[in-house]
Amino acid sequence: MDTSDSWLLSRVGARLLAASAGGFAGWWIGNQIGYPATTGMAAAASAVLILSVNDTLKGHRLLDWLRTPEAVPPDLPGMWGEVAHRVQRVVHLKDVRIAEERARLREFLSAIEASPNGVMLLDANDQITWISSAAADHFGLNPQRDLMQRVTNLVRQPAFVQYLAAGDYRDVVKCQVSHGRQTVLQILVRVYGDGLKLVLSQDITERERSDTMRRDFVANVSHEIRTPLTVLNGFIETLGSLPLTEVERKRVITLMMQQSERMQGLVSDLLTLAQIEGSPRPASDRWIKVDTLMARIETDGRGLSRDRHPMTFVTEAGGKHCEIAGIESEWLSAMGNLVSNAVRYTPEGKAIDVRWQTLPDGSAEFSVKDGGIGIAPEHIPRLTERFYRVDGSRSRETGGTGLGLSIVKHVVQRHGGELRITSEAGKGSTFTLSLPAVRSRLV
Ligand code: ADP
Repeated sequence: MDTSDSWLLSRVGARLLAASAGGFAGWWIGNQIGYPATTGMAAAASAVLILSVNDTLKGHRLLDWLRTPEAVPPDLPGMWGEVAHRVQRVVHLKDVRIAEERARLREFLSAIEASPNGVMLLDANDQITWISSAAADHFGLNPQRDLMQRVTNLVRQPAFVQYLAAGDYRDVVKCQVSHGRQTVLQILVRVYGDGLKLVLSQDITERERSDTMRRDFVANVSHEIRTPLTVLNGFIETLGSLPLTEVERKRVITLMMQQSERMQGLVSDLLTLAQIEGSPRPASDRWIKVDTLMARIETDGRGLSRDRHPMTFVTEAGGKHCEIAGIESEWLSAMGNLVSNAVRYTPEGKAIDVRWQTLPDGSAEFSVKDGGIGIAPEHIPRLTERFYRVDGSRSRETGGTGLGLSIVKHVVQRHGGELRITSEAGKGSTFTLSLPAVRSRLV
Protein backbone atom coordinates (compact mmCIF):
# COMPACT_ATOMS: atom_id res chain seq x y z
CA MET A 1 0.00 0.00 0.00
CA ASP A 2 1.59 3.34 -1.02
CA THR A 3 1.18 6.67 0.73
CA SER A 4 -1.69 7.85 -1.46
CA ASP A 5 -3.57 4.57 -0.70
CA SER A 6 -3.34 5.26 3.03
CA TRP A 7 -4.31 8.89 2.35
CA LEU A 8 -7.41 7.67 0.49
CA LEU A 9 -8.32 5.26 3.28
CA SER A 10 -7.87 7.98 5.86
CA ARG A 11 -10.22 10.22 3.79
CA VAL A 12 -12.88 7.49 3.68
CA GLY A 13 -12.37 6.85 7.43
CA ALA A 14 -12.68 10.57 8.17
CA ARG A 15 -15.99 10.72 6.26
CA LEU A 16 -17.37 7.73 8.14
CA LEU A 17 -16.16 9.23 11.38
CA ALA A 18 -17.72 12.63 10.50
CA ALA A 19 -21.07 10.98 9.60
CA SER A 20 -21.07 8.90 12.82
CA ALA A 21 -19.99 11.92 14.88
CA GLY A 22 -22.73 14.04 13.18
CA GLY A 23 -25.33 11.35 13.99
CA PHE A 24 -24.16 11.04 17.57
CA ALA A 25 -23.95 14.84 18.03
CA GLY A 26 -27.49 15.27 16.58
CA TRP A 27 -28.84 12.61 18.96
CA TRP A 28 -27.00 14.13 21.98
CA ILE A 29 -27.88 17.77 21.24
CA GLY A 30 -31.48 16.78 20.55
CA ASN A 31 -31.48 14.98 23.90
CA GLN A 32 -30.13 18.04 25.74
CA ILE A 33 -32.54 20.57 24.31
CA GLY A 34 -35.52 18.33 24.61
CA TYR A 35 -35.99 17.36 20.92
CA PRO A 36 -36.66 13.76 20.31
CA ALA A 37 -33.58 11.75 19.39
CA THR A 38 -35.05 11.05 15.92
CA THR A 39 -34.79 14.75 14.97
CA GLY A 40 -31.01 14.72 15.62
CA MET A 41 -30.71 11.41 13.74
CA ALA A 42 -32.69 12.93 10.81
CA ALA A 43 -30.32 15.93 10.72
CA ALA A 44 -27.32 13.55 10.65
CA ALA A 45 -28.98 11.41 7.90
CA SER A 46 -29.59 14.58 5.81
CA ALA A 47 -25.93 15.47 6.15
CA VAL A 48 -24.97 11.95 4.93
CA LEU A 49 -27.52 12.25 2.06
CA ILE A 50 -26.09 15.62 0.96
CA LEU A 51 -22.59 14.11 1.05
CA SER A 52 -23.59 11.10 -1.06
CA VAL A 53 -25.48 13.28 -3.62
CA ASN A 54 -22.36 15.40 -3.87
CA ASP A 55 -20.26 12.22 -4.36
CA THR A 56 -22.68 10.90 -7.02
CA LEU A 57 -22.38 14.14 -9.00
CA LYS A 58 -18.59 14.05 -8.83
CA GLY A 59 -18.60 10.36 -9.78
CA HIS A 60 -20.82 11.22 -12.73
CA ARG A 61 -18.37 13.85 -13.97
CA LEU A 62 -15.58 11.32 -13.59
CA LEU A 63 -17.52 8.73 -15.64
CA ASP A 64 -18.19 11.35 -18.31
CA TRP A 65 -14.47 12.02 -18.60
CA LEU A 66 -13.63 8.29 -18.68
CA ARG A 67 -15.80 7.92 -21.76
CA THR A 68 -13.41 10.28 -23.58
CA PRO A 69 -10.16 9.99 -21.60
CA GLU A 70 -8.25 12.07 -24.15
CA ALA A 71 -10.30 15.13 -22.94
CA VAL A 72 -8.98 17.29 -20.11
CA PRO A 73 -9.69 15.53 -16.77
CA PRO A 74 -12.33 17.25 -14.52
CA ASP A 75 -10.94 19.33 -11.71
CA LEU A 76 -12.45 17.44 -8.76
CA PRO A 77 -11.59 18.00 -5.13
CA GLY A 78 -10.87 15.26 -2.63
CA MET A 79 -11.21 11.58 -3.23
CA TRP A 80 -12.71 11.91 -6.73
CA GLY A 81 -9.86 14.17 -7.78
CA GLU A 82 -7.44 11.51 -6.58
CA VAL A 83 -9.28 8.81 -8.58
CA ALA A 84 -9.18 11.00 -11.71
CA HIS A 85 -5.48 11.62 -11.18
CA ARG A 86 -4.75 7.92 -10.77
CA VAL A 87 -6.74 6.93 -13.84
CA GLN A 88 -4.94 9.60 -15.80
CA ARG A 89 -1.59 8.27 -14.59
CA VAL A 90 -2.45 4.70 -15.62
CA VAL A 91 -3.62 5.85 -19.06
CA HIS A 92 -0.46 7.93 -19.47
CA LEU A 93 1.77 4.98 -18.52
CA LYS A 94 -0.04 2.80 -21.06
CA ASP A 95 0.40 5.51 -23.73
CA VAL A 96 4.12 5.70 -22.98
CA ARG A 97 4.45 1.92 -23.19
CA ILE A 98 2.52 1.77 -26.48
CA ALA A 99 4.71 4.55 -27.91
CA GLU A 100 7.83 2.62 -26.83
CA GLU A 101 6.55 -0.58 -28.43
CA ARG A 102 5.71 1.30 -31.62
CA ALA A 103 9.20 2.82 -31.73
CA ARG A 104 10.73 -0.64 -31.22
CA LEU A 105 8.55 -2.06 -34.01
CA ARG A 106 9.58 0.79 -36.31
CA GLU A 107 13.26 0.12 -35.51
CA PHE A 108 12.79 -3.57 -36.16
CA LEU A 109 11.09 -2.92 -39.51
CA SER A 110 13.79 -0.43 -40.49
CA ALA A 111 16.41 -3.11 -39.75
CA ILE A 112 14.57 -5.52 -42.05
CA GLU A 113 14.26 -2.78 -44.66
CA ALA A 114 18.01 -2.15 -44.46
CA SER A 115 18.71 -5.72 -45.56
CA PRO A 116 19.27 -6.34 -49.28
CA ASN A 117 17.29 -9.54 -48.83
CA GLY A 118 13.52 -9.44 -49.17
CA VAL A 119 11.06 -10.43 -46.43
CA MET A 120 7.38 -11.17 -47.04
CA LEU A 121 4.82 -12.44 -44.52
CA LEU A 122 1.90 -14.60 -45.63
CA ASP A 123 -1.14 -15.68 -43.66
CA ALA A 124 -2.47 -19.25 -43.68
CA ASN A 125 -4.19 -18.56 -47.03
CA ASP A 126 -0.97 -17.29 -48.62
CA GLN A 127 -2.25 -13.73 -48.54
CA ILE A 128 0.39 -11.06 -48.15
CA THR A 129 0.24 -9.45 -44.70
CA TRP A 130 3.51 -7.54 -44.86
CA ILE A 131 6.23 -7.05 -47.43
CA SER A 132 9.59 -5.30 -47.22
CA SER A 133 10.58 -2.95 -50.04
CA ALA A 134 13.38 -5.32 -51.15
CA ALA A 135 10.88 -8.19 -51.47
CA ALA A 136 8.45 -5.87 -53.27
CA ASP A 137 11.26 -5.00 -55.68
CA HIS A 138 12.24 -8.67 -56.14
CA PHE A 139 8.70 -9.83 -56.88
CA GLY A 140 7.49 -6.66 -58.61
CA LEU A 141 4.82 -6.01 -55.96
CA ASN A 142 3.42 -2.88 -54.39
CA PRO A 143 3.89 -2.94 -50.56
CA GLN A 144 0.57 -1.14 -49.95
CA ARG A 145 -1.71 -2.01 -52.83
CA ASP A 146 -0.95 -5.73 -52.83
CA LEU A 147 -1.55 -6.34 -49.12
CA MET A 148 -4.06 -9.13 -48.43
CA GLN A 149 -3.74 -10.37 -52.02
CA ARG A 150 -2.99 -14.04 -52.54
CA VAL A 151 0.70 -14.09 -53.46
CA THR A 152 0.33 -16.72 -56.19
CA ASN A 153 -2.16 -14.47 -57.97
CA LEU A 154 0.55 -11.88 -58.31
CA VAL A 155 3.78 -13.91 -58.51
CA ARG A 156 3.10 -16.52 -61.16
CA GLN A 157 6.56 -17.99 -61.77
CA PRO A 158 5.85 -21.75 -61.99
CA ALA A 159 8.89 -22.69 -59.88
CA PHE A 160 7.70 -20.42 -57.04
CA VAL A 161 4.03 -21.42 -57.30
CA GLN A 162 4.90 -25.14 -57.21
CA TYR A 163 7.35 -24.68 -54.35
CA LEU A 164 4.79 -22.82 -52.27
CA ALA A 165 2.06 -25.37 -53.02
CA ALA A 166 4.27 -28.43 -52.35
CA GLY A 167 4.77 -27.38 -48.73
CA ASP A 168 8.24 -28.91 -48.51
CA TYR A 169 10.45 -25.97 -47.61
CA ARG A 170 13.65 -27.77 -46.60
CA ASP A 171 15.45 -26.52 -49.72
CA VAL A 172 15.51 -23.16 -51.40
CA VAL A 173 14.03 -22.56 -54.85
CA LYS A 174 15.57 -20.48 -57.64
CA CYS A 175 13.41 -18.61 -60.09
CA GLN A 176 13.86 -16.07 -62.83
CA VAL A 177 11.80 -12.91 -62.72
CA SER A 178 11.85 -9.92 -65.03
CA HIS A 179 10.59 -6.51 -64.03
CA GLY A 180 12.54 -4.31 -66.41
CA ARG A 181 15.63 -6.51 -66.03
CA GLN A 182 16.20 -10.24 -65.77
CA THR A 183 16.82 -11.25 -62.16
CA VAL A 184 17.51 -14.61 -60.61
CA LEU A 185 15.97 -14.98 -57.14
CA GLN A 186 16.71 -17.54 -54.48
CA ILE A 187 13.63 -18.02 -52.31
CA LEU A 188 13.28 -19.70 -48.95
CA VAL A 189 10.03 -20.25 -47.03
CA ARG A 190 9.74 -20.90 -43.30
CA VAL A 191 6.45 -21.77 -41.62
CA TYR A 192 5.71 -20.28 -38.19
CA GLY A 193 2.73 -19.79 -35.87
CA ASP A 194 -0.53 -21.25 -37.12
CA GLY A 195 0.31 -21.90 -40.78
CA LEU A 196 1.83 -18.43 -41.29
CA LYS A 197 4.75 -18.17 -43.71
CA LEU A 198 7.92 -16.15 -43.84
CA VAL A 199 9.20 -15.79 -47.40
CA LEU A 200 12.85 -14.73 -47.75
CA SER A 201 14.16 -13.70 -51.15
CA GLN A 202 17.70 -12.98 -52.31
CA ASP A 203 18.90 -11.55 -55.63
CA ILE A 204 21.56 -13.99 -56.86
CA THR A 205 21.81 -12.70 -60.45
CA GLU A 206 25.47 -11.72 -60.08
CA ARG A 207 26.41 -14.95 -58.33
CA GLU A 208 24.71 -16.99 -61.05
CA ARG A 209 26.43 -14.96 -63.75
CA SER A 210 29.87 -15.47 -62.25
CA ASP A 211 29.13 -19.20 -61.75
CA THR A 212 28.25 -19.46 -65.43
CA MET A 213 31.35 -17.49 -66.36
CA ARG A 214 33.53 -19.76 -64.23
CA ARG A 215 32.00 -22.88 -65.77
CA ASP A 216 32.44 -21.48 -69.29
CA PHE A 217 36.00 -20.50 -68.46
CA VAL A 218 36.94 -23.99 -67.23
CA ALA A 219 35.28 -25.54 -70.30
CA ASN A 220 37.18 -23.14 -72.59
CA VAL A 221 40.53 -23.73 -70.91
CA SER A 222 40.03 -27.50 -71.09
CA HIS A 223 39.15 -27.22 -74.76
CA GLU A 224 42.13 -24.98 -75.52
CA ILE A 225 44.54 -27.38 -73.80
CA ARG A 226 42.98 -30.55 -75.10
CA THR A 227 43.38 -29.60 -78.77
CA PRO A 228 47.20 -29.20 -78.80
CA LEU A 229 47.50 -32.19 -76.45
CA THR A 230 45.57 -34.37 -78.91
CA VAL A 231 47.78 -33.17 -81.76
CA LEU A 232 50.92 -33.83 -79.70
CA ASN A 233 49.69 -37.32 -78.83
CA GLY A 234 49.13 -38.05 -82.49
CA PHE A 235 52.68 -36.95 -83.34
CA ILE A 236 54.16 -38.99 -80.51
CA GLU A 237 52.33 -42.09 -81.78
CA THR A 238 53.58 -41.38 -85.30
CA LEU A 239 57.15 -41.01 -84.08
CA GLY A 240 56.88 -44.25 -82.10
CA SER A 241 55.19 -46.42 -84.68
CA LEU A 242 56.29 -45.24 -88.14
CA PRO A 243 59.78 -45.33 -89.62
CA LEU A 244 60.20 -41.66 -90.68
CA THR A 245 62.81 -40.12 -92.89
CA GLU A 246 65.01 -37.45 -91.35
CA VAL A 247 63.05 -34.70 -93.19
CA GLU A 248 59.71 -36.06 -91.96
CA ARG A 249 61.00 -36.42 -88.44
CA LYS A 250 62.18 -32.79 -88.42
CA ARG A 251 58.81 -31.62 -89.73
CA VAL A 252 56.93 -33.56 -87.05
CA ILE A 253 59.16 -32.20 -84.31
CA THR A 254 58.67 -28.63 -85.59
CA LEU A 255 54.88 -29.13 -85.49
CA MET A 256 55.14 -30.63 -81.99
CA MET A 257 57.12 -27.60 -80.83
CA GLN A 258 54.43 -25.30 -82.22
CA GLN A 259 51.77 -27.13 -80.21
CA SER A 260 53.80 -27.10 -77.03
CA GLU A 261 54.52 -23.36 -77.50
CA ARG A 262 50.78 -22.83 -77.90
CA MET A 263 50.16 -24.55 -74.58
CA GLN A 264 52.95 -22.56 -72.96
CA GLY A 265 51.43 -19.32 -74.25
CA LEU A 266 48.06 -20.30 -72.90
CA VAL A 267 49.40 -21.23 -69.48
CA SER A 268 51.42 -18.02 -69.36
CA ASP A 269 48.35 -15.86 -70.22
CA LEU A 270 46.25 -17.75 -67.67
CA LEU A 271 48.87 -17.11 -64.99
CA THR A 272 49.03 -13.41 -65.93
CA LEU A 273 45.23 -13.13 -65.64
CA ALA A 274 45.16 -14.98 -62.32
CA GLN A 275 47.93 -12.79 -60.97
CA ILE A 276 46.22 -9.56 -62.05
CA GLU A 277 42.89 -10.66 -60.60
CA GLY A 278 44.42 -11.72 -57.31
CA SER A 279 46.62 -8.69 -56.62
CA PRO A 280 45.58 -5.44 -54.95
CA ARG A 281 44.92 -2.22 -56.90
CA PRO A 282 48.24 -0.78 -58.13
CA ALA A 283 49.76 1.93 -55.93
CA SER A 284 49.37 5.43 -57.30
CA ASP A 285 52.80 6.59 -56.16
CA ARG A 286 55.05 4.08 -57.87
CA TRP A 287 56.19 5.84 -61.04
CA ILE A 288 57.37 4.06 -64.18
CA LYS A 289 59.27 5.68 -67.06
CA VAL A 290 57.21 5.57 -70.25
CA ASP A 291 60.44 5.77 -72.34
CA THR A 292 61.54 2.42 -70.88
CA LEU A 293 58.13 0.83 -71.63
CA MET A 294 58.12 2.16 -75.19
CA ALA A 295 61.68 0.95 -75.81
CA ARG A 296 60.79 -2.56 -74.61
CA ILE A 297 57.66 -2.89 -76.70
CA GLU A 298 59.41 -1.45 -79.74
CA THR A 299 62.10 -4.13 -79.53
CA ASP A 300 59.49 -6.88 -79.06
CA GLY A 301 57.14 -5.48 -81.75
CA ARG A 302 59.86 -5.14 -84.37
CA GLY A 303 61.13 -8.64 -83.49
CA LEU A 304 57.64 -10.05 -84.03
CA SER A 305 57.07 -8.19 -87.30
CA ARG A 306 60.49 -9.07 -88.69
CA ASP A 307 60.38 -6.01 -90.94
CA ARG A 308 57.15 -7.09 -92.60
CA HIS A 309 55.38 -3.87 -91.52
CA PRO A 310 56.48 -0.24 -91.60
CA MET A 311 56.30 0.63 -87.87
CA THR A 312 56.55 3.94 -86.02
CA PHE A 313 56.92 4.35 -82.26
CA VAL A 314 56.38 7.90 -81.00
CA THR A 315 56.28 9.41 -77.50
CA GLU A 316 54.83 12.95 -77.37
CA ALA A 317 55.88 14.59 -74.13
CA GLY A 318 56.73 18.16 -75.19
CA GLY A 319 60.44 17.67 -74.61
CA LYS A 320 59.88 16.19 -71.17
CA HIS A 321 59.70 12.61 -69.97
CA CYS A 322 56.41 10.98 -69.26
CA GLU A 323 55.88 8.78 -66.23
CA ILE A 324 52.89 6.73 -65.16
CA ALA A 325 51.91 5.35 -61.77
CA GLY A 326 51.33 1.63 -61.75
CA ILE A 327 52.84 -1.80 -62.17
CA GLU A 328 55.48 -2.05 -64.88
CA SER A 329 55.00 -5.73 -65.73
CA GLU A 330 51.24 -5.19 -66.19
CA TRP A 331 51.75 -2.22 -68.53
CA LEU A 332 54.36 -4.11 -70.52
CA SER A 333 51.88 -6.95 -70.90
CA ALA A 334 48.96 -4.67 -71.90
CA MET A 335 50.93 -2.53 -74.35
CA GLY A 336 52.80 -5.57 -75.73
CA ASN A 337 49.53 -7.43 -76.34
CA LEU A 338 48.13 -4.56 -78.43
CA VAL A 339 51.32 -4.30 -80.52
CA SER A 340 51.46 -8.08 -80.96
CA ASN A 341 47.80 -8.12 -82.11
CA ALA A 342 48.49 -5.33 -84.60
CA VAL A 343 51.39 -7.32 -86.05
CA ARG A 344 49.38 -10.57 -86.15
CA TYR A 345 46.26 -9.08 -87.73
CA THR A 346 47.94 -6.74 -90.21
CA PRO A 347 48.98 -8.03 -93.62
CA GLU A 348 52.57 -7.59 -94.71
CA GLY A 349 53.41 -4.10 -95.96
CA LYS A 350 50.63 -2.28 -94.06
CA ALA A 351 51.67 0.31 -91.50
CA ILE A 352 51.47 0.12 -87.70
CA ASP A 353 51.70 3.33 -85.63
CA VAL A 354 52.33 3.16 -81.90
CA ARG A 355 51.96 6.42 -79.98
CA TRP A 356 52.14 7.64 -76.38
CA GLN A 357 50.82 11.14 -75.75
CA THR A 358 50.10 13.31 -72.76
CA LEU A 359 46.92 15.33 -73.26
CA PRO A 360 46.44 18.98 -72.18
CA ASP A 361 44.32 17.91 -69.18
CA GLY A 362 47.22 15.83 -67.84
CA SER A 363 45.78 12.44 -68.77
CA ALA A 364 47.71 10.10 -71.04
CA GLU A 365 46.86 7.87 -73.98
CA PHE A 366 48.62 4.95 -75.55
CA SER A 367 47.32 3.96 -78.98
CA VAL A 368 48.14 1.31 -81.55
CA LYS A 369 46.80 2.00 -85.03
CA ASP A 370 47.07 -0.60 -87.74
CA GLY A 371 46.02 -0.87 -91.35
CA GLY A 372 45.08 -4.50 -90.84
CA ILE A 373 42.07 -6.72 -91.40
CA GLY A 374 39.84 -4.66 -89.10
CA ILE A 375 36.87 -5.88 -87.09
CA ALA A 376 33.15 -5.82 -87.95
CA PRO A 377 31.10 -3.68 -85.50
CA GLU A 378 29.10 -6.59 -84.04
CA HIS A 379 32.29 -8.20 -82.69
CA ILE A 380 33.77 -5.12 -81.06
CA PRO A 381 31.77 -5.18 -77.76
CA ARG A 382 32.73 -8.83 -77.19
CA LEU A 383 36.46 -8.69 -78.01
CA THR A 384 37.55 -8.41 -74.37
CA GLU A 385 35.63 -11.55 -73.33
CA ARG A 386 37.93 -14.41 -72.51
CA PHE A 387 38.56 -16.69 -75.51
CA TYR A 388 36.42 -14.56 -77.81
CA ARG A 389 37.91 -14.57 -81.29
CA VAL A 390 36.58 -13.19 -84.56
CA ASP A 391 38.51 -15.77 -86.55
CA GLY A 392 39.59 -18.69 -84.35
CA SER A 393 41.92 -20.34 -86.83
CA ARG A 394 43.78 -17.12 -87.71
CA SER A 395 44.22 -16.38 -84.01
CA ARG A 396 45.59 -19.86 -83.25
CA GLU A 397 47.83 -19.96 -86.32
CA THR A 398 49.49 -16.75 -85.20
CA GLY A 399 49.96 -18.03 -81.64
CA GLY A 400 46.91 -16.27 -80.11
CA THR A 401 45.33 -17.56 -76.94
CA GLY A 402 42.12 -15.49 -77.04
CA LEU A 403 43.07 -13.97 -73.68
CA GLY A 404 45.16 -10.99 -74.80
CA LEU A 405 42.48 -8.30 -74.82
CA SER A 406 40.93 -9.49 -71.55
CA ILE A 407 44.36 -9.02 -69.95
CA VAL A 408 44.63 -5.54 -71.54
CA LYS A 409 41.19 -4.48 -70.30
CA HIS A 410 41.87 -5.77 -66.81
CA VAL A 411 45.19 -3.96 -66.54
CA VAL A 412 43.90 -0.62 -67.75
CA GLN A 413 40.80 -0.75 -65.55
CA ARG A 414 42.88 -1.58 -62.48
CA HIS A 415 44.85 1.58 -63.18
CA GLY A 416 41.68 3.68 -63.38
CA GLY A 417 41.72 3.95 -67.17
CA GLU A 418 39.80 2.45 -70.08
CA LEU A 419 40.28 0.61 -73.35
CA ARG A 420 38.65 2.08 -76.48
CA ILE A 421 38.43 0.22 -79.76
CA THR A 422 37.60 1.74 -83.13
CA SER A 423 37.76 -0.41 -86.20
CA GLU A 424 36.42 -0.95 -89.66
CA ALA A 425 36.45 -4.34 -91.33
CA GLY A 426 39.08 -4.45 -94.08
CA LYS A 427 40.53 -1.04 -93.21
CA GLY A 428 42.25 -1.38 -89.86
CA SER A 429 41.83 -0.77 -86.15
CA THR A 430 42.91 1.57 -83.39
CA PHE A 431 43.18 0.33 -79.83
CA THR A 432 43.59 3.11 -77.24
CA LEU A 433 44.45 2.84 -73.56
CA SER A 434 43.65 6.00 -71.60
CA LEU A 435 45.05 6.77 -68.20
CA PRO A 436 43.70 9.44 -65.78
CA ALA A 437 45.75 12.52 -64.93
CA VAL A 438 46.36 11.29 -61.37
CA ARG A 439 48.42 8.43 -62.75
CA SER A 440 50.34 10.36 -65.38
CA ARG A 441 52.97 13.11 -65.07
CA LEU A 442 55.66 14.87 -67.05
CA VAL A 443 59.11 15.23 -65.45
P1 ADP B 1 43.95 -13.51 -79.67
O1 ADP B 1 44.94 -14.23 -78.89
O2 ADP B 1 42.98 -14.39 -80.37
O3 ADP B 1 44.51 -12.45 -80.52
P2 ADP B 1 42.86 -11.31 -78.17
O4 ADP B 1 42.09 -11.31 -76.92
O5 ADP B 1 44.15 -10.57 -78.18
O6 ADP B 1 43.03 -12.82 -78.57
O7 ADP B 1 41.94 -10.71 -79.30
C1 ADP B 1 40.64 -11.20 -79.44
C2 ADP B 1 40.22 -11.15 -80.90
O8 ADP B 1 40.14 -9.80 -81.32
C3 ADP B 1 41.21 -11.77 -81.83
O9 ADP B 1 41.01 -13.16 -81.94
C4 ADP B 1 40.93 -11.05 -83.13
O10 ADP B 1 39.85 -11.67 -83.78
C5 ADP B 1 40.49 -9.67 -82.69
N1 ADP B 1 41.58 -8.68 -82.77
C6 ADP B 1 42.39 -8.27 -81.79
N2 ADP B 1 43.24 -7.33 -82.20
C7 ADP B 1 42.96 -7.12 -83.52
C8 ADP B 1 43.49 -6.26 -84.52
N3 ADP B 1 44.49 -5.40 -84.27
N4 ADP B 1 42.94 -6.34 -85.75
C9 ADP B 1 41.93 -7.17 -86.01
N5 ADP B 1 41.39 -8.02 -85.10
C10 ADP B 1 41.90 -7.99 -83.87
